[in-house]
Amino acid sequence: AGLMAGLFLTGNLVNGQSNAEVEKIPEVEKLLKKMTLEEKVGQMAQVTIDVLTIGDTPFDTSEPLRLDEETLRKGIVDYKIGSVLNTANNRARTREKWHNIVSTIQKMAQEETRLGIPVLYGVDAIHGTTYTADATFFPQQIGMAATWNRDLVRKGGEITAYETRASSIPWTFSPVLDMGRDPRWPRIWETFGEDVYLNSQMGIELVKGYEGAENEVGEPVNVASCLKHYLGYGTPVSGKDRTPALIPDIELRERHLPPFRAAVEAGAHSVMVNSGLINGVPVHASYKMLTEILKEELGFQGLVVTDWKDIENLHDRDRVAKTQKEAVKMAINAGVDMSMIPYNFDFCDYLVELVNEEEVAMSRIDDAVRRILNMKHKLGLFETPVTHYEDYPKFGSKEFEDAAYQTAAESVTLLKNADNILPLSKDARVLVTGPNANTMRPLNGGWSYSWQGNLVDEFAGKYSTILEAIQNKIGEENVTFVPGVEYNMEGKYWEEIPGDLDAVAVAAKDVDYIILAIGENSYTEKPGDLHDLSLSDNQMALAQTAIESGKPVIAVLNEGRPRIIREIVPEMEGILHAYIPGNFGGVAVADILFGDVNPSGKLPYTYPMYVNTLVTYDHKPSENQAKMAGMYDYESDFAIQFPFGFGLSYTSFEYSDLSLNSESISGDDELTISVTVTNTGDRTGKEVIQLFTSDLYASITPDVKRLRRFEKIELEPGESKTMTFILTAEDVEFVNAELNRVTEPGEFEVSIADLKAKFTYTR
Ligand code: BGC
Repeated sequence: AGLMAGLFLTGNLVNGQSNAEVEKIPEVEKLLKKMTLEEKVGQMAQVTIDVLTIGDTPFDTSEPLRLDEETLRKGIVDYKIGSVLNTANNRARTREKWHNIVSTIQKMAQEETRLGIPVLYGVDAIHGTTYTADATFFPQQIGMAATWNRDLVRKGGEITAYETRASSIPWTFSPVLDMGRDPRWPRIWETFGEDVYLNSQMGIELVKGYEGAENEVGEPVNVASCLKHYLGYGTPVSGKDRTPALIPDIELRERHLPPFRAAVEAGAHSVMVNSGLINGVPVHASYKMLTEILKEELGFQGLVVTDWKDIENLHDRDRVAKTQKEAVKMAINAGVDMSMIPYNFDFCDYLVELVNEEEVAMSRIDDAVRRILNMKHKLGLFETPVTHYEDYPKFGSKEFEDAAYQTAAESVTLLKNADNILPLSKDARVLVTGPNANTMRPLNGGWSYSWQGNLVDEFAGKYSTILEAIQNKIGEENVTFVPGVEYNMEGKYWEEIPGDLDAVAVAAKDVDYIILAIGENSYTEKPGDLHDLSLSDNQMALAQTAIESGKPVIAVLNEGRPRIIREIVPEMEGILHAYIPGNFGGVAVADILFGDVNPSGKLPYTYPMYVNTLVTYDHKPSENQAKMAGMYDYESDFAIQFPFGFGLSYTSFEYSDLSLNSESISGDDELTISVTVTNTGDRTGKEVIQLFTSDLYASITPDVKRLRRFEKIELEPGESKTMTFILTAEDVEFVNAELNRVTEPGEFEVSIADLKAKFTYTR
């Protein structure tokens, strides 16, 4: 058995062989035949633009940027690198500048290399073309998810694709399909939240938006998407970024894989690998994850790129490779096609040696290069290596801005509205306070004009902060502003400058209401790690001051993850959750506060009440034993602040007549479920109809419920609509102990709002 296992490992791990078939495109095959080993390996290398520039260090944000001819030539001509990423000095550039950068690179690749293969440029254009000055910025993904509006998300993808191409770039490292199931994790705001189905649906829309409905990435208005970070990146045990995760296969398949499967089926062209460890195995070294599951089982045809420096990390950080060269061998044999190196060219030298030493098979190299060249071919880079901003007249247009505004407006989620205090009258006098009131930076968050979002206020001056939008709406004379607490914009993102709370108390005397804009400053990745999920002490003290004034307080939560605010929730009259809404977030918040827009966002995650009670809505019954037993009132009882899917409106909706066309289904029968929704209030409003199912008994303890369908509709006062949803047995399947997706015969419950009905499934 030992020998057999040895042979088996040799077969897979030493040379990375796989049965996965990749589409053969004649032009690409012809090219592939002409290529030397060095040329092939070069295609598999991606460096940051920073190594090609001079004049400043990577984190120096000063202009001007100059491409360094000599290093550029070393990269493009000597090492024949296939791809470049990101923005130099971590600073957004104008479209003109982007055009210069990309065309200089392409010109050299085409004119000074033997085969003239165009370079593939990629950026993190994740809520708009976020590294281009004057581009249209949408809410971050968590806000997109909170709209529960597929059309808006797809439209956002389309606009981002257009503006990315207008910046001469054909590839975006988006969407994030990691599960946002642990609010301690600093990248929650980059996700679509905690639910598998919502993630899958929104992922499909964003991919279609980027790539065009038919994945015509070669159209000049489309870009290739990159699904990240495959797989299981979002739930590290400690809650901190890039720390180890322990995820059983059954959980990986039940909750982490489905959004990737859905987006691969939707045609996504690339995938980026999870930087972390799962069960002690770095995903970058996992043949099982990258080759067996992604390429073979899901049939993924596109290219697999590493995350930042993650091949080096196999040696430096994760210590599974004794040398850098061994790290390269491990990753490539596991199924990595392109290395985001990103600072030197050693990868290329090692990989050439490894192939010559037969440690990596030529067929593995050919497979990787085929995937890369196929994508370049599909993107049309061989004919049009650089697009030109002048061909993109709609860049930054009113039409695009309206779409971003609409997305922001539909994301904002009304969590509390005591005695219908909202909307406020436009005659009101208000005190605006809080660190999020008068800065664009937290409205845009990370990946905005720079990695950490620290340049937002410099670039986004023309847009309105929450304070400015309120002033514009009700007149400056009716608005008093006392910050109370400010973020230290020069310091670390969590550093705050406590303000004068007495001044807040004094200012409160002359107003009717207090708008308390609190939450977080911008951050991205590890710098966003937290010791405590509770809202900062400074901000809690400010909130207490506002409460003690006796004036009604309305909180606006501008934060990328649900910070715990248990002590102040009962004292707030109104609470709006704005997430990270982008450049139009200030206006959207003001429009909702003063009634020009009726809120329709719904929480894409469970808002926790206690750090020791971090649960998702789709938990197992035993998470909530007190409720089950109905007799104890445990201290540890299941206490959450606001449930998944929750969000109020200025009107009211009533649900009636939940009915199923049949009490039982078998085989692949369709079950038709209908429900009537009526707007019983006096304002037009949008409602998200959410259909959940519960498997009552199963061989694996079933989750208490799971979202299976949703639809957002608009209803005028008094209007009713009957909605119809179709489910089949496949929609209620789960992953069983043998890791198979199955639907077991038995009873199921369908629930929509407070209505419930049952059906039975037989084989
Ligand atoms: C992040 C990725 C990102 C990449 C390139 C990494 O640090 O984890 O999400 O796409 O950098 O900027």
